[in-house]
Amino acid sequence: MISGTIFDIKRFAIHDGPGVRTTVFFKGCPLNCWACHNPEGQQVGSDLLIRDERCSLCGDCLDMCPRDAISQNGNGIQIDRLRCDLCGACADACLRGALEIAGKSVAVDDVVRQIERDIVYYDESGGGVTFSGGEPLAQPDFLLALLTECKQRDISTVVDTSGYAPLTVVRSIVDLVDLFLYDLKLADSNRHEEFTGVPNGTILENVSWLSEHGSRVTVRLPLIPDVNDDEENLRALGGFLSSLSRPHPIDILPYHRTGVDKYARLGRGYHLSTKQPPSEARVATAAQLLEQAGLNVTVRGEPYVLEQ
Ligand code: SF4
Ligand code: SF4
Repeated sequence: MISGTIFDIKRFAIHDGPGVRTTVFFKGCPLNCWACHNPEGQQVGSDLLIRDERCSLCGDCLDMCPRDAISQNGNGIQIDRLRCDLCGACADACLRGALEIAGKSVAVDDVVRQIERDIVYYDESGGGVTFSGGEPLAQPDFLLALLTECKQRDISTVVDTSGYAPLTVVRSIVDLVDLFLYDLKLADSNRHEEFTGVPNGTILENVSWLSEHGSRVTVRLPLIPDVNDDEENLRALGGFLSSLSRPHPIDILPYHRTGVDKYARLGRGYHLSTKQPPSEARVATAAQLLEQAGLNVTVRGEPYVLEQ
């Protein structure tokens, strides 16, 4: 039985593709984007998150830790993450849900059973399942098995991806995917590597191949002030996408700060700690630049209407 590692399954999702969807979040991502909203999905292995606001300082977790990795002061508990081996005993002991292990191994059948629970909602809304992350293409056998099971049940499939994977992986799943939500951030590879940790050649090649293959793709552009909202980048992305054999539509997702708290819960710093969302004027400028390239542009999934 094939299994994989996930960190969440979210039912009744309405922003992860058409209709009402169940979103399965794969653990592990080869990128390390500064603005990642799911930092608990980045590492391949498990993570321990602490919610200070839920902690009553009862001390139960200290007693359960076999590695003596937890200490407590008047402000809350602290984890020595070098000592912690992520066994999860503290999370099991905490009745207030202040500790959480993100990341668990699950069998394909178990995931499919959870997906199947909401088939009636998928059918009524035009929804289905979305595989997100983390990076679903980073667990290709698990993803292929899940997609195959979903298609056997006539469940619509969406893959939400950075596109950073060997083309052989993309080819192996492509005909089982009804829609790709495909992140593009920066056209310049050096800037892309600074922001994400990897160059963008593979990502651009794969999205070109999907265009030639005739796959349904919506490119998603997280628009981040002073990171990728400059005219040079937007014109370059627009030019690249409009040059494809079948240009994909592009959806602008203005930067927001949802998920920022998770960095502190993981004991990590956040690269964009002072960054604020873009103004609507900057979003409009970005949309206009991309429209001028001949692309079909939406903002947060809604049609963008160019003011006359
Ligand atoms: S068991 Fe939970 S509530 Fe009690 S000290 Fe530990 S984290 Fe806080
Ligand atoms: S996960 Fe295990 S080792 Fe880590 S702090 Fe909790 S009980 Fe201790």
